[in-house]
Amino acid sequence: MSVFTKLTLLGLASLRPQIVRSTIKLPRFATSSLLRRNYSTGSTDNETLSGWACFEKGGPLIKSEFPLTNFGDDSIDLDIICCGICGTDVHCIDSGWGPTNYPMVAGHEIVGRVTRVGKNVKHLKVGDRAGVGCQCGSCKKCTSCLDKKENICEDRVVWTFNDYWDNGDKTYGGFADKWRGEKEFAFKIPDKLSSVDASSILCGGVTTFAPLKRYGVGAGSKVAVLGLGGLGHFGVQWAKAMGAKVVAYDMVPEKAKDAKLLGCDDYVLVNNSKEAEPHYNSFTHILATKILNKNWDEYFKMLKKNGTFIVCDIPEVPLSGINALEMASKQINIAGTFIGAPSDIEESLSFAAENGVRTWANEFPMSKVNEAIEYVREGRPKFRAVLVN
Ligand SMILES: [Zn+2]
Ligand SMILES: [Zn+2]
Repeated sequence: MSVFTKLTLLGLASLRPQIVRSTIKLPRFATSSLLRRNYSTGSTDNETLSGWACFEKGGPLIKSEFPLTNFGDDSIDLDIICCGICGTDVHCIDSGWGPTNYPMVAGHEIVGRVTRVGKNVKHLKVGDRAGVGCQCGSCKKCTSCLDKKENICEDRVVWTFNDYWDNGDKTYGGFADKWRGEKEFAFKIPDKLSSVDASSILCGGVTTFAPLKRYGVGAGSKVAVLGLGGLGHFGVQWAKAMGAKVVAYDMVPEKAKDAKLLGCDDYVLVNNSKEAEPHYNSFTHILATKILNKNWDEYFKMLKKNGTFIVCDIPEVPLSGINALEMASKQINIAGTFIGAPSDIEESLSFAAENGVRTWANEFPMSKVNEAIEYVREGRPKFRAVLVN
């Protein structure tokens, strides 16, 4: 993973301008535009977007105008239909993982109607619905990119917001009326999938779909999903549709009802040993969308030999306390996973369309973005919040 990827993963994308100038060969005009580029207000030409921007740490989002990046042969313009709110949006608004490069328009679960395509764009046409997740570009040259694993590009990832295009323009996310970006990271939405259902799959959905597929979940698997929330509610639906037995784990009894509605075979209250013990040594996989009690001994007891613990959650503190003997003697694998490659996103959308995987979403008008963010901060969505234009 490059310094860029690590920094941006940690929300430190605002450090990028200095790093870009020192290590990446950008055209000369691009570096100077990094310094000159600023948001404008009150512009009336159609080369601007109107987005809900955050101007300071934890501040309210204020509707403002920003320039769209240049339109090229590989570009796509979208009129945004809706955009999901993800935990990362709130973290960046709050500079939670490091200083954010304000003003910032967040939003990276974007579904829109295509209004214009560059001449190299073949997979989308004007009038189609298209989706964009949290990544908008990659280097296209490193071994990961050549292997179609652009999500773990080793050199240059462009994030959908709080980042810069290769030409030095800032990227702006989906809490807006328009999005413009490159064809490789815009995906056709299957007709069977509503825009709201599709939006949260573009980040929250694919983040759980990709590792289940990568680590071979299918008939004969038994999957524990830790955390029945925004990610977990996708995790249980994917695993079930892939043919696995699924048990959800969370902290409150009220979620048992939702677990059942989502198709889970059982629901376990974490720390309730009576409910937990019958499942010891039975799971082929644990999908940790929330590392609930950080009790590795307990997780290792849950896994069968050769079982795989998949880390989706990114807690702000390091994970520690692994008993190496237990891990070695059961041949346990601990696997990281990071969003999804474009091919994973396409597959997750069509898999959802075909298998009835849906987003449980609370919808808000885009103009109520500040209320919606508060709702997310309070952990109230069941299970995602989606802003609709
Ligand atoms: Zn996200
Ligand atoms: Zn790459």
